[in-house]
Amino acid sequence: MTQDDANPLPDALRLTSPAPLVDIGANLTHESFAKDLDAVLERAHAAQVATLILTGTDMAHSEQAVALAHRHDGLYATAGLHPHMASHWDASMETAMRALHADPKVVAVGECGLDFNRNFSTPAEQERALEAQLGLAADSDLPLFLHERDAGPRMREILHHWRDEIGAVVVHCFTADRETLHGYLDLDVHIGLTGWLCDERRGHHLREIVGDIPAERLMVETDCPYLLPRNLPAKLKGRRHEPALLPWIVREIAHWRGESEATLAGATTATARRFFQLDEEQ
Ligand SMILES: [Zn+2]
Repeated sequence: MTQDDANPLPDALRLTSPAPLVDIGANLTHESFAKDLDAVLERAHAAQVATLILTGTDMAHSEQAVALAHRHDGLYATAGLHPHMASHWDASMETAMRALHADPKVVAVGECGLDFNRNFSTPAEQERALEAQLGLAADSDLPLFLHERDAGPRMREILHHWRDEIGAVVVHCFTADRETLHGYLDLDVHIGLTGWLCDERRGHHLREIVGDIPAERLMVETDCPYLLPRNLPAKLKGRRHEPALLPWIVREIAHWRGESEATLAGATTATARRFFQLDEEQ
C-alpha cells in the first residue's frame, strides 16, 4: 500500500490554484501528519500551495515546526504559546522562546492570544502570556500571529496599548463580526481567513463582511488538520484538512468578494510575502 492509498485525496478534491498561494496557518506538526508528511507536501506543491507557515502552539511544537522548516524549502515557522496553554508560561519558557525567535526560519511570534470561548487557561493567565509575547515581538521585530476567540474587545484594548512598540499583526482564523473586524482594521491589523466561511451554518455572517477587508490586509490559511471546508465537492475519508485544499477556500472567499481566484491568490500571496518578510534565500 502506498502512502497515497493510505490517505487518498480523491481526484474530485484536487484543485490547482491559478497562482501560487501561501498557507499562513498549517499545523503540520500535528500527529495526524506524522506518517505521510512528504505526500502531503507533494500534493500541496501540485495545488500551487508551495509556501507554508507552520504554526507553533507551545514549546515542543514550535521547536518541531522550526526543525521541519529547516528540512524543506518553502516552509517557515512561528514560535509561541497558544492561549489554551497559557498557564504554562514562565521565565524559562520566555528565554527558550526568545532564542527560537532568532532562528532565520521563524517568521512570526505566536500563535498567542486570547480565547475566552473555552478558557482552558484562565483569562488572567492568558493575558500574562500574551503580554510577555507582545514584549518578545517588540524585541525581535517579528510580526505577531494572534489567536482570538470571543475576546475581541479586550484584544483590541491590549493591541491599542502596544501598537507603537510592535510591528505587523495578523489575527488568524478570523470569525467575529463586522464591528470587531473594523476595530482590527483601524489598528492596522491583518486578517487571516480559513474555510470557516465555507460553512453555511456558522460562516454566513463572514460572507457579508469579507469584502470589507482590503486586499493588502488579507491572507488565507487552512488551519489544518482542523476546519475542513464544507464546500468540498466530495467526501474525504478521515476528514483531515491539508494545505492542498487551500484553493477551495480561496475559491469561496473570491466568490463572496466578487473577484477572481487569480486576483485573490495574487493579492494574498503578495501580502503574505511582505507580512512575513519571506525571501527565497531562506
Ligand atoms: Zn488559532
